[in-house]
Formats: sequence, C-alpha cells, structure tokens
Amino acid sequence: MRADDKNRKFSGLSKVQLKALKRILPLDALLLTPQEKLIYGSDAGGRFAMPWAVVRPQTVDQVQRIMHWAEQERIPIIPRARATNVVSACVPHMGGIVMSCLKMNRILSVDQRDFTAHVQPGVITYELQQAVRGKNLFYPPDPASLRVCTIGGNISTNAGGMHAVKYGVTGDYVLGLEVVLPGGELIRTGGRVHKNVVGYDLTSLLVGAEGTLGVIVGAWLKLLPLPSFSATILACFAEEAQAIAAVDKIFAAGMLPAAFEFMPAEVLSCLSGYTKMPWPESAGAALIIQVDGTEAKVEQDISFVSSQLAHALHLENARQNEQEHIWELRRLINPASFRLGPDKCSDDVCVPRSRILEAVEGIRGIACEYSLPVLVFGHVGDGNLHVNFMYDGSIKGMKNQVSRCRRETLRLVLELDGSISGEHGVGLSKKPFLTSQPGPGVLRLMRGIKKVFDPHNILNPGML
Ligand SMILES: Cc1cc2nc3c(=O)[nH]c(=O)nc-3n(C[C@H](O)[C@H](O)[C@H](O)COP(=O)(O)OP(=O)(O)OC[C@H]3O[C@@H](n4cnc5c(N)ncnc54)[C@H](O)[C@@H]3O)c2cc1C
Repeated sequence: MRADDKNRKFSGLSKVQLKALKRILPLDALLLTPQEKLIYGSDAGGRFAMPWAVVRPQTVDQVQRIMHWAEQERIPIIPRARATNVVSACVPHMGGIVMSCLKMNRILSVDQRDFTAHVQPGVITYELQQAVRGKNLFYPPDPASLRVCTIGGNISTNAGGMHAVKYGVTGDYVLGLEVVLPGGELIRTGGRVHKNVVGYDLTSLLVGAEGTLGVIVGAWLKLLPLPSFSATILACFAEEAQAIAAVDKIFAAGMLPAAFEFMPAEVLSCLSGYTKMPWPESAGAALIIQVDGTEAKVEQDISFVSSQLAHALHLENARQNEQEHIWELRRLINPASFRLGPDKCSDDVCVPRSRILEAVEGIRGIACEYSLPVLVFGHVGDGNLHVNFMYDGSIKGMKNQVSRCRRETLRLVLELDGSISGEHGVGLSKKPFLTSQPGPGVLRLMRGIKKVFDPHNILNPGML
C-alpha cells in the first residue's frame, strides 16, 4: 500500500512490511499490539487515530533506515515527542507509523565559552534548563508545559512562553539542526556559531514545521548568561483600560520586563471563587510583571514600575524565592476555569499590542452573542492572548455553537491584524483556517517547499 492511495487510512502494514520493520529495528523498539499503540494515537489536542505501528529509535542510524524504507514503501511517518501539543499535530489521522523520538534524550554537550548546548530531540525542556543553570547559563524558552515537553517538540512548534516578551521564543535559540529527511538523508543546517548567513535559512524553515519536513535528531541551541536576581510585581486596577495604559507607560519609558501578564475582570472573578484573592472585589484587571538582572538593577526596576502604577488598587512585590504565590495565581486560571463549564475550547491568538483592549472587548462581545462564558488573558507584553470558551459538550448543538463562536473570534483577530496562533501552532485543529492566514499565495509556496523536502508526502501527511 502507498501513502498516496486514496484508501490508505483504512490500511495497515502488510506481513512483508512488518517483517522488514523487524529487520530494521530491535524488537523492543517496536510497538505493535493495539494496547501498546493506543496512547500513541492521540495528543493533547484531543483527536484520536490508531497508528499502524509505533517505532522508538535510539540512534540517528535507526531513524535514517526507517525513513529510507518508509519512503520506498510510501508509508506515512508521524514524528512525536511528549504529545503535549494542543492542536492535534501528531495524530496519525491518515494512518501510518508513529515515530517516538523520546529515546534520543541526551544532552550531548554544554559549552560554557561558546554559550551553546548540543542536544538530542527527546531532552525535556526543564531538564536542559536545570543542566545549564548549574553552569550559570540560561536557556530561556519556557512553555508552561516545560516539565513534560521536549526540545524536539518545542522546535517543531516554535514554542513560546511567559518570558517571550524579553527573551523571545524557541526559534530565537536554535542555531542549527541535524535532520533526517524522507528517504533517509541526514542534513545539517547551521551549527554552533551564533551568526550564520550562508544561503537560505533552512534552520528557521524547520522551526515550527510540525514534523512535516524532516525528523529532527539533533539541535545546537544558544544559551545566555543566567540573570542573578528577579522580582515580581502584582498590581490590580479598577478598570481594564487603566491596566492596559500602565502596560503602554512601562514600555514607553524604555523598560522591557522579563514577563508581563494580564488578567481581566472575568478571570479575576473566576479566580476569586476558587482561591483567596489579595485584592478588593471591585478589581477590574490585574497585571503581573517580572523583572530580572543584577540585584541592583532589579531594585531600580521595582521602584520605577511601582512609581508608574501609583493608581493601582493593590500593589505588591516579591523577590527571588518569594515570587511563587503571585505566579500561582496565574497558574490557577486553568483549574478555576472549569467552574464555568466542564469543557474548554482554547485558542492562543496574537494581536498587535496596541489592539489588545479591542481584542478583549470584541471577543467578549462575540461570546456574549453565543451565550458562552469566556476567559481572555495572557502575555500582554507580546499581545499573545489565551481565549478559553467554557461550555458543556453534552448539551445538544453546543459543540456547533462553540465552533461558530470560535470561527468569528479568529475572524476578528485577523481583522485586528493579528495571528490565529501565537504559540500553539496549526495541527489539525487550525488547518481549516489556513486559507485566511497565511492566504493562497503563501500556501502555494508552502506546498512547494513541502514537495522539495518530502516529494512523496510521507512525513506527517495532511498537516499544515
Ligand atoms: C498544560 C499545557 C501547557 C502548555 N503551555 C504552552 C506554552 O506556554 N507555550 C507553548 O508554546 N505551548 C504550550 N503548550 C503546547 C505544547 O506543550 C507545545 O506545543 C510543545 O512544544 C510540544 O512539545 P512536545 O514535546 O509535547 O511535542 P509533541 O506534542 O509530541 O509534538 C509537537 C509537534 O512536533 C513534531 N515533532 C516532535 N518531535 C519531532 C522531531 N524530533 N522531529 C520533527 N518533528 C517532531 C510532532 O510531529 C508535532 O507536530 C502547552 C501544552 C499543555 C498541555
């Protein structure tokens, strides 16, 4: 059977193909029973499709041999790491073999003079952060899932996090990649150097490709000096507009906080029913601002930020290990949100910072038309807003209602010159919206690029 067969999603591997696979890999690197394969059929996006088989290579050579064979046989390969992506980007929806990259999980080197790390794709993001921290170095990308997700998954989704406003996203730290292409060829893009402008920037092309262009088997990452001190400021205001005005004021004064979070009225009210809040009930919005650097600089920044927030209803700051209780409030939004409904439809849109208030008010208006509770909050520093519509999926017609509401929301975001995804990516979940963003011309070029890398469409087919 071939990947371009119309009916391939109903197919599996033939006996001959199974035999060939067993020759390529040791038996313990193969999962073939339905029980073993089950969990590899879904990810945090919630869709499911049973893989034909699961392979767990440990070496680059094994990846090359699988990719060579899979191309000859036209068998789809779906790269996968910890499956925390929330857009169904590694579900084998057209059938095929899931390739788990988790056994390639070594930090190969950390260079204190070059400020680089060379890692395999299955390294857990948090473990890399801890390993380099021990050498006084800093790997900044910090998706909220960092204790579980991997560098390979982060690169393939260009994951961002709380500190993106100051430090950027995963792609800003990828200096070079080792990638196995369909057919089995191993290529290297970029490398250990911090600057590199020879030819097309294929490293950037592979970042965020959601496993559609090649299997990442190694990465050179840029590191920074570890900031020695940090502090967090929590401020709440009577009105949202005051909070947003404070954001503008802080940036206009030339300050770049390490993290800058925004929680409007609905979020505060949802939290107040869940935990004890440190502000008056009348609060209309809150900001969480983190600053980092040397101790002296941080103290200076705290004084400056506090002076800009003199009109806040509540203002507090916390240093070093004492910051946790403030960040805990931010983390509690997720569990607290389920007070509003047992199911969640979650998006991660991005708008120009100047249009955040318009976006929040517009999304609120759309949700109101559909009688759906909504929580809009997030990384105000870079305009990246999380939009959570809460609902009860067991009510007849509700899922359709949510999907219409979501469609209108994404349309509004595009009208505001925004992006339908700031960090989670496309996967199957946002694929239907690709004709609106990036649009037909860019899509045509993207299809052409896919053909160059993967002429027989075996790698994560049907994605992007
Ligand atoms: C609670 C929670 C919080 C989250 N918070 C954030 C957040 O703050 N910011 C954010 O950006 N995201 C966040 N996410 C989404 C998710 O964690 C990220 O998308 C993450 O980068 C996925 O990493 P993973 O290791 O789980 O990869 P997977 O989900 O397994 O894979 C992601 C994509 O990468 C591809 N892939 C995986 N490994 C390879 C490889 N070696 N070569 C080629 N392609 C590969 C897969 O095919 C898939 O398309 C969150 C998710 C959850 C559940």
